Amino acid sequence: MKSPDRSAAIRKSAAAKRSKKPPAKKSERVRPGRRSRLGPAAVTELFRRLADANPEPKSELEYVNPFTLLVAVVLSAQATDAGVNRASRALFKIADTPEKMVRLGEDSVRDFIKTIGLYRNKARNVIELSRRLVAEYGGNVPHDRTALEALPGVGRKTANVVLNVAFGEPTMAVDTHVFRVANRTGLSAGTTPLEVEEDLLRVVPAEYAHHAHHWLILHGRYVCKSRHPECPACIIRDICLYEAKTPCAE
Ligand code: SF4
Repeated sequence: MKSPDRSAAIRKSAAAKRSKKPPAKKSERVRPGRRSRLGPAAVTELFRRLADANPEPKSELEYVNPFTLLVAVVLSAQATDAGVNRASRALFKIADTPEKMVRLGEDSVRDFIKTIGLYRNKARNVIELSRRLVAEYGGNVPHDRTALEALPGVGRKTANVVLNVAFGEPTMAVDTHVFRVANRTGLSAGTTPLEVEEDLLRVVPAEYAHHAHHWLILHGRYVCKSRHPECPACIIRDICLYEAKTPCAE
């Protein structure tokens, strides 16, 4: 017969096992010790300066409505905005709605976008997502993250861009530029786009949240470049915590 102490210990251990959550996937893991290293005052000042320099930042992708924005972002995966614009200008002139895109057909879409990387897959996705928009949403782009992410070729970053630009939500689309600038400055120490997104959502003051990802993209594209960051000319140099800053000329 088990002693009362031993029975209680067994019950406690079984309860602990039952209450254990399954381990989080790597992409969902949160690392509390590896997050933003900038304090709230520094973060506010960083965005105040970026906002002063460019009060109304815009996407550099060309589009005429939420549908063409969605298609342009799908086309921009592993491609430059300039390259996408060159191809999409002619395409959007004749197919600026899902109905017109479906009528145009996959072969023609492929011809329009063949200068963009992964164009075969992208043409297939553009036609299939257009079909789904017509069949399921009356030809409209849904204002809903889950619905957007269920469309072919649409991931979290694309959904974040559409929710932000087309619907005005304060989402943080993390591309390679945002990821780099956030890590260099100390806004985040995230090791995945999702971790950086979570950090930005947590630390960016509400008044700057709507435009934050555009400011970071543009800063990464033109100033805080991957190989040669232009630190001497950077307007947030004194706030940024990057240890390998490009030195100022003597
Ligand atoms: S100081 Fe240099 S590393 Fe820091 S944000 Fe500016 S350009 Fe990037």
